[in-house]
Amino acid sequence: MKKIKMTTPLVEMDGDEMTRILWKMIKDELLLPFIDLKTEYYDLGLVEREKTKDKVTFDSAYATQKYGVAVKCATITPNKQRVEEYNLSEMWKSPNGTIRAILDGTVFRAPILIDSIKPAVKNWKKPITIARHAYGDVYKATEHRVEGEGKAELVFTGKDGSVFRETIYDFECGGVLQGQYNKDSSIISFAHSCFKFAIDTKQDLWFSTKDTISKKYDQTFKLIFQDIYEKEYKEKFKELGIEYFYTLIDDAVARVIRSEGGYIWACKNYDGDVMSDMVSTAFGSLAMMTSVLVSPDGKYEYEAAHGTVTRHYYRYLKGEDTSTNPMATIFAWSGALRKRGELDGLSDLVDFADKLEAACIKTLDDGIMTKDLVGLVSEGYTATAVNSIGFIKAIRERLEASLA
Ligand code: NAP
Ligand code: MG
Repeated sequence: MKKIKMTTPLVEMDGDEMTRILWKMIKDELLLPFIDLKTEYYDLGLVEREKTKDKVTFDSAYATQKYGVAVKCATITPNKQRVEEYNLSEMWKSPNGTIRAILDGTVFRAPILIDSIKPAVKNWKKPITIARHAYGDVYKATEHRVEGEGKAELVFTGKDGSVFRETIYDFECGGVLQGQYNKDSSIISFAHSCFKFAIDTKQDLWFSTKDTISKKYDQTFKLIFQDIYEKEYKEKFKELGIEYFYTLIDDAVARVIRSEGGYIWACKNYDGDVMSDMVSTAFGSLAMMTSVLVSPDGKYEYEAAHGTVTRHYYRYLKGEDTSTNPMATIFAWSGALRKRGELDGLSDLVDFADKLEAACIKTLDDGIMTKDLVGLVSEGYTATAVNSIGFIKAIRERLEASLA
């Protein structure tokens, strides 16, 4: 069979532990036999990050700015224990944080659905994609514990010397204080990423805040989204028959539960943190959760939402059989290849990505699964647990059949 050609390289970001093992299996079994794979390789494994003093992470993000599409393996975010384990000279920052800051992007997370695993919310039929504004608010707040009587004020001093001052509360007893902020520039980037991703995936976009209570703070989010939508995206949305819809967070929660799914839900930082865990748990499994970082100028970085699956890796190192689920990592590759194909006008690359995903779904529908999924299968379905390589080989058989 002739291999599928690529024109522009994908930025390939390798990673750590069990997902690094899966990464190689996926390339060897599902990609290299079929594609003349063109990548610019960056090793974000912790060993190489230490060796390059984390320069490799920065370089991989700059390469993503240059080429437009990246695929990333899960990586270790060092903590104290990892500093000892890997003998690190510094507690290097989270690669995802570094890449996100450079690309100024928003992360979109969506579950992979299969017939035999039913979401906890029975009317959900299509994926719900959560977009979290990962900047500011309570995550960058200044807090103060008030020990007794006193006056708390909100003070802003402009560069021109003008002063805004308002009493927050006249404390008659102990209490707590918190100062939060956000920036127009960050909210604008968030909005562009959301509108772009809605157009890309042809899905409605919902956005929710609490602007009835937060009349300036949350109102700013609402107005920026509305303004950008009217000026830059309304026509395109109309053309595609998709909708932008703003509502209060409490109304959104109720509608999400009653919905069939099939839309993007954009959330402020805290809401996105909480709701993405709720939605992903209700859909079934972290191992089936895909993730893509989209920048406001349309750069894409695809990855799995889960981590490096450390516990399985230690078993693997001891020579034990492991049944780690590669689905989200395979879908990171298919997502990146499809996007590359779309951007470069390579229809057979797009077609390959579709067929790879279909082969994965077919394998699961045939009841061949990794251990984590077998326990989640609904009544009336049967499934057999296989190890990671067995699962990947079963996908390959089906992929070969559909490409033949
Ligand atoms: P994790 O790697 O997501 O794994 C947590 C547990 O979830 C696993 O022990 C496993 O449960 C289950 N699991 C996750 N993915 C699975 C898969 N593909 N197949 C089967 N089971 C899966 O989270 P963690 O253990 O908290 O973190 C490990 C490392 O990953 C940390 O160093 C962290 O810094 C890093 N991390 C990286 C990213 C990223 O790069 N995006 C994200 C999160 C965490 P059982 O053991 O019960 O089978
Ligand atoms: Mg969380």
